[in-house]
Amino acid sequence: KLSKRLETVASFVPTGAVIADIGSDHAYLPCYLINNKIAKKAIAGEVVKGPFESAVRQVREEGLIHKISVRLADGLEAIEDGDKVDTITIAGMGGPLIVSILEKQPEALKNVTRLILQPNIHAKVIREWAMKNNWALLDEVILEEDAKIYEILVLQRGEMNLTEQELLLGKHLMNEKSDVFIKKWQREIDNLKRVLSSLEGAESTPDVVAKREEILHLIS
Ligand code: SAM
Repeated sequence: KLSKRLETVASFVPTGAVIADIGSDHAYLPCYLINNKIAKKAIAGEVVKGPFESAVRQVREEGLIHKISVRLADGLEAIEDGDKVDTITIAGMGGPLIVSILEKQPEALKNVTRLILQPNIHAKVIREWAMKNNWALLDEVILEEDAKIYEILVLQRGEMNLTEQELLLGKHLMNEKSDVFIKKWQREIDNLKRVLSSLEGAESTPDVVAKREEILHLIS
């Protein structure tokens, strides 16, 4: 059974999509999408040999080799010209790594109309990247599973203008203000307060002053 996290990612894949799941590990997500007749065809990309082999094994075991191509490749290099990929999923990595993958081969996004991104941390850099590169948030989800809090960002082509606060917190998530959202940011505030009080005792170098200002700004 798929995790609630990946099931939520899957719920945003349009029916009939041709998807590329980058950093697919066991290829659980592409297998689920094909088995449930959500995606028409899928590519599972992996840059590390161990997970790549797990993906190959999984796809074989589920009898899906005609529908899922497993490729050992760095990021979007897994996508080939003839694939006609229209949807990309990247889940279970930090926001900065997700952005670096998207920035490395921007031409691979040419025919892509939807990105479903699940950063484990620093979703903000993804919103910043999206705003700069003409992607707009169609939806956002925050969820908790096994004591971890995850965010899922669903992007489609379009303009958006987010404030500094919306970039950090997520426009949709801010409006919705779910219990998980409150929990996440309460946790962040507690951590920042801890850092702040440890800075109180620190020497006032420009770095310390800047950090203190930044934290005060964030929690005010
Ligand atoms: N996507 C799955 C999920 O959400 O459960 C697996 C997440 S796993 C924590 C991250 C995977 O991304 C690892 O298997 C890692 O090898 C792969 N990865 C990291 N950087 C990558 C890159 N540049 N290209 C392809 N895969 C990458």
